[in-house]
Amino acid sequence: MFSGLSHLACSKCAKTYEARTRRQMCDCGAPLFARYHLDELRGKFKKTTISQRPQNLWRYHELLPVTNERAIISMSEVMTPLIALPKTAQALDLPNLWVKDESVLPTGTFKARGASVGISRAHELGITEIALPTNGNAGAAWAAYAARSGLKSVIALPKTAPRIPYLECCYAGAKVEVVEGTIAQAGILIAEYVKRTNAYEVSTFKEPYRLEGKKTIGFEIAEQFNWSVPDVIVYPTGGGAGVVGIYKAFIELQALGFIEQRLPRMAIIQATGCAPLVRAFEQGQRESRYFEDAQTIAYGMRVPKALADEIILEIIRETRGIACAVTDEEIRDERARILQVDGFHACPEGAAALAGVRKLRELNFIKDSDRVVSINTGSGLKYMEQVEWAQRIGEKESLTDCQAVRP
Ligand SMILES: *Cc1c(COP(=O)(O)O)cnc(C)c1O
Ligand SMILES: [Zn+2]
Repeated sequence: MFSGLSHLACSKCAKTYEARTRRQMCDCGAPLFARYHLDELRGKFKKTTISQRPQNLWRYHELLPVTNERAIISMSEVMTPLIALPKTAQALDLPNLWVKDESVLPTGTFKARGASVGISRAHELGITEIALPTNGNAGAAWAAYAARSGLKSVIALPKTAPRIPYLECCYAGAKVEVVEGTIAQAGILIAEYVKRTNAYEVSTFKEPYRLEGKKTIGFEIAEQFNWSVPDVIVYPTGGGAGVVGIYKAFIELQALGFIEQRLPRMAIIQATGCAPLVRAFEQGQRESRYFEDAQTIAYGMRVPKALADEIILEIIRETRGIACAVTDEEIRDERARILQVDGFHACPEGAAALAGVRKLRELNFIKDSDRVVSINTGSGLKYMEQVEWAQRIGEKESLTDCQAVRP
């Protein structure tokens, strides 16, 4: 059995669907989740089988939705490393701190996971055109994988999205629409477009397979911890596919008997300028409200209302996790600090997660004995236009001074 895929199930009501035909969401409007024959796999599918396979996300193919190996569209989405930050760990009195560095994936962000699995499955289902709204990185990844598979891609993104991923979308041959506002307005445009055409909408949680790709971060973390889990996972959250994916991965691994029942506490980090989930969590709400005038330099987290907000909030409660906001100022300072003391160049979102680690350590939500994995969701190189401030820390000179000493 190449894939153990069984069916699709609604995340909210009891409805199920067979997985062989294309589906977007449940008739009730909630996201659909892929379900697997976990009972059949239990005992037959072994950890040692996985460890002998190539180090990329397809090593977990029994738990991925692509049923025909030949449908796979992959550029070797490597198992991403866990990197220590020795000086930061020492300063925070947190010896077991790691960054899972997603910047090494194709197109430079973890969006490649969702795109590789999502495009492969779309390709397998005979889809010829995909459409999505994006803050940039998802567009860049899906445009590249769509190009590789021969699918057409239509992408809408906010005018204020960073320039590099915008150019990547165009350069990969996607049809790109720029809109006023945020990803929410881009989403409206895409929804209208798919209504008029036969395009398959691959917005976060509007089809079930992007999540399956994102889930592989969770598989990798468990495998890298020798089939156990860390105490805390810190995730810079926008639409929340990463958080839900990691959680889903652990639930599936538990069902297979690969890991124990204890789950990591999920700490989701947002920017104060766009913190709908933090606000809902702090107010004890089950659902978030649309966050007006959403602004942050961590564009990947600029999602005024996540479609899966109820699921994300439930995961935080269930794992005894937390939602915490950091300012753009803190994100900037953290990004510069980590690079200057530990040589690690995070993207703003990854820096937000690390600023979150700092805050949660101060709050003692994170204890000195905790094993903590903070996700660096993408490459800092995608955000070089933001670095004018990068050296504005401590006693260091400004970038202008750097230029002054250049030959
Ligand atoms: C999309 C994105 C995020 C947010 O991830 P979600 O899984 O949608 O919450 C964080 N960082 C970067 C770099 C991103 O591109
Ligand atoms: Zn439903």
